[in-house]
Amino acid sequence: MKVSEVDDSLLAIILQNIPFSVTTTTPEGIITKFSREAENLTGYKASEMIGKQTPAIFHYAPEIAERTFQFSNELGISIEPGFDTFTIRSQHNLPNEFEWTYVRKDGKHVPVSLSVSALRDNEGSITGYVGIAKDLSKIKEDQQKLIRSKQLLDEAQHLSAIGSWGLDIVENRLEWSDEIFRIFEIDQSQFEPSYEGFLNAIHPEDVEMVQKAFSDSVANKTQYIITHRLLMMDGRVKYVTERGKTTYHEDGTALFSQGTVQDVTESKRVEKQLNDYVSLIDESVITSSTDLKGNITYASNAFCRISKYEKSELIGKNHRIIRHPDMPAETYKELWNTLTHNQTWQGEIKNKAKDGSIYWVYAVISPDFDDNGSKRGYTAIRQNITSKKRAEELAITDRLTGLYNRLKLDEVLEYEIIKSKRYSTALSLIIIDIDHFKSVNDTYGHQVGDMVLKEVANTLLSCKRESDTIGRWGGEEFLIVLPNTNLAGAMITAEKIRTAIENYSFSVVEKKTASFGVSEFLVEENEDSFIERADQALYRAKSGGRNQVVGWFRCSLFT
Ligand code: GH3
Ligand code: MG
Ligand code: MG
Repeated sequence: MKVSEVDDSLLAIILQNIPFSVTTTTPEGIITKFSREAENLTGYKASEMIGKQTPAIFHYAPEIAERTFQFSNELGISIEPGFDTFTIRSQHNLPNEFEWTYVRKDGKHVPVSLSVSALRDNEGSITGYVGIAKDLSKIKEDQQKLIRSKQLLDEAQHLSAIGSWGLDIVENRLEWSDEIFRIFEIDQSQFEPSYEGFLNAIHPEDVEMVQKAFSDSVANKTQYIITHRLLMMDGRVKYVTERGKTTYHEDGTALFSQGTVQDVTESKRVEKQLNDYVSLIDESVITSSTDLKGNITYASNAFCRISKYEKSELIGKNHRIIRHPDMPAETYKELWNTLTHNQTWQGEIKNKAKDGSIYWVYAVISPDFDDNGSKRGYTAIRQNITSKKRAEELAITDRLTGLYNRLKLDEVLEYEIIKSKRYSTALSLIIIDIDHFKSVNDTYGHQVGDMVLKEVANTLLSCKRESDTIGRWGGEEFLIVLPNTNLAGAMITAEKIRTAIENYSFSVVEKKTASFGVSEFLVEENEDSFIERADQALYRAKSGGRNQVVGWFRCSLFT
């Protein structure tokens, strides 16, 4: 066997097994060898190629044209597109490895990295070429996947306004995702990521806090989370929330820190707006919340102002703390009944402030539900109606005595007559007239007369039962409405009052008496005749000698 034959069979084995596409050609380009991998890569058989074709057959023609133009320009010589395009650089002993596109026999494109070398004899003349190509499809595919996943990450970061960074503490190398550049408004092409760049973006007043949070977290080996401001070039302020953690070597040295930066400017703005709104409500709306038992869990500033309590004095206390004893138990019963049926109650409530003063509110009270729909308490929104109530009270009050006036007495009478008719309950009234009152004025003057009127009013109040209504009917006459009371009962009350006045020691005049006319309501009559009969009884009491009680009973008067 000759040496060249040994070489040839060795070369044949190599060409069968080498994982690259190897093609050799004559100086003109005719293929002389075509390796197994060349067959795989191009889909052509060696037998179809050797001695018959040039490699141009599996190259992409537009690419050949483009490279011809490029190489011609670079080398300053004009070449024809074709085999020369692949070899021209090798002919000039220049490096000749480029990415090319092969077109397989089935038409599919394959990216390859092709290195072309010239084979030369001892004189340096070119005897042929060898092209070694490596399939780049897998690498290209991986690159594409990497690019795509980076794009996905960038898009996700952009959508969520969260950027990420990594700091190699050992190498002191910092990496930022695109979103960090966007949040910090730093031009990626102009600036390298740097800790200084980061510090520069932070609002000057927050720098110390941020540095401390980071260094504390490294020292304590804890994660950190901090929200701080960024100050933009044009003076705008942004808010970011940063989260970060550091990984450590076994010996405890910090190796790598990584974290995220989230742009929370918008949620901060909403949060601020909400806070402004809440404090506006807190200042101006009399509102409070309680748990299911009525223990106060929240009280607004406006609530504190009107009730004259501090927030701390209210929270945890029962709402009864502001309850006024004047409020009928029935109202509260009805209120709780409505609320326990998950309905909203509204109505007027008289409250007692910390200093004992009275205030009136119109309250709307609703049940509160948690996220699971279970009732957790109640919230009340109130309107201060104290002035309205004062005006109302003034309209029905007699200025001198503080008793109800005739307007209110008429109203009460009308109401009690309806009730008496509907429920067939007894209803009586007493008219009281002070005896010889004119002489008080004549003897002591009008002011003393006024004083006697006030003292009589107080005496009446002290004798009155809970359900009775007392008012000044006019001049020195008073009227008492007694629901659920028949004539006999009313006469007993009248007699009690008569004695009380008789025994009372008046300031100046010392002794004074009054006469009483009493009547019980008759189903067939109206308000006027009801009063008229009491008046007639009073007239009889006067004419009968005064300081006495006369009742009108079924067409006859008796004492
Ligand atoms: P009699 O026993 O018959 O009832 O005699 P009288 O003097 O009480 O009766 P008369 O109706 O003649 O007089 C009522 C007086 O009451 C007349 C009026 O000057 C006086 N009077 C009415 N309103 C007031 C008031 O608001 N203040 C004072 N000081 N006097 C009043
Ligand atoms: Mg009179
Ligand atoms: Mg009188």
